Amino acid sequence: MKKNVVIFNRLAQDLIERLAVNFNVIQLGAASELADALAAGPVHGLIGAGWQLGRAQLAAAAGLEVVSSISVGYDNYDLDYLNERGILLTNTPDVLTETTADLAMTLILTTARRIVELDGWMRDGNWRGGLGPEHFGCDVHGKTLGIIGLGNIGAAVARRGRFGFGMRVLYTANSRKPELEQELDADFLELDGVLRESDFVCVVVPLSDRTRKLIGQRELGLMKSSAILVNVARGPVVDEEALVDALRDGQIRAAGLDVYEQEPLAESPLFALSNLVCVPHIGSATHETRRAMAELAVQNLERALKGDAPLHMVNPQVRTR
Ligand code: NAP
Repeated sequence: MKKNVVIFNRLAQDLIERLAVNFNVIQLGAASELADALAAGPVHGLIGAGWQLGRAQLAAAAGLEVVSSISVGYDNYDLDYLNERGILLTNTPDVLTETTADLAMTLILTTARRIVELDGWMRDGNWRGGLGPEHFGCDVHGKTLGIIGLGNIGAAVARRGRFGFGMRVLYTANSRKPELEQELDADFLELDGVLRESDFVCVVVPLSDRTRKLIGQRELGLMKSSAILVNVARGPVVDEEALVDALRDGQIRAAGLDVYEQEPLAESPLFALSNLVCVPHIGSATHETRRAMAELAVQNLERALKGDAPLHMVNPQVRTR
């Protein structure tokens, strides 16, 4: 008998058809539909992204074997609960690394050169005379780039900075990375040191109890007043209220954000700040990369439901129980 798979959020039609060859496939449009889908019968696999899935949502999911996430971050899943239930969680690292690093670099460049602000200024018909220092930005090349979390994406951002823009690289992480230090001529510092010495601080740590509000009022206060903060990790890693204050008071020069404490975000004090560039969580949102992530997630799901080891497992220990 075919196993049942629920798709939460969107998946390309050809991938749905591919899954339908081996599984009964149910596609959901909204999180509110999950409870009915689980009540209708055993669901063996879930595939999707972005939904909060924990005890409240999954308690009725008897027979659930795997959740295949179309993302590398997995902070929206209650991992302790999945472990307790013996439910495997898979994710899609690597295939989104370069694309997300491209976005981080884009945010560094657009904030430094005030691209969004000056685009708006020009479209508003303000370019009628010469430009003065009030329109100038700051250099990126040759500056110091601080990476908070030198993992896959952090290293890819650091390579862009080091080899594309001749930047000095500082970093912090849980542990030192001797190979990357050699490759990037990078220096390890504790968090405070990175914040104090960097011209650009790029946040790329996973969201966890340890990294929630890692960058708050105190940390923003350590940064140079000429420095720029970029967050492509998860919104709650940065205290947004403290960031608004720091940007408004000129405590730091500017910020570039891809991620927010609340998502989606249609209203925010952030939007009133001209020294902020904000984009709606598009780190991995290119046609090529979203396709690669979806294919990898489908592969992870298929392998898990056939009893084979998926390519990327967050909690592989549950397979041996
Ligand atoms: P990764 O390879 O696991 O790297 C994470 C890095 O963070 C590691 O170097 C780790 O250090 C470091 N780290 C963890 N906790 C830390 C702490 N408390 N203090 C300092 N460093 C810490 O992950 P990745 O693939 O680069 O992705 C990172 C995160 O980016 C994901 O978890 C996800 O939330 C986010 N992301 C966002 C987008 C987007 O669309 N904006 C796209 C992809 C990913 P150790 O190696 O020493 O443990």
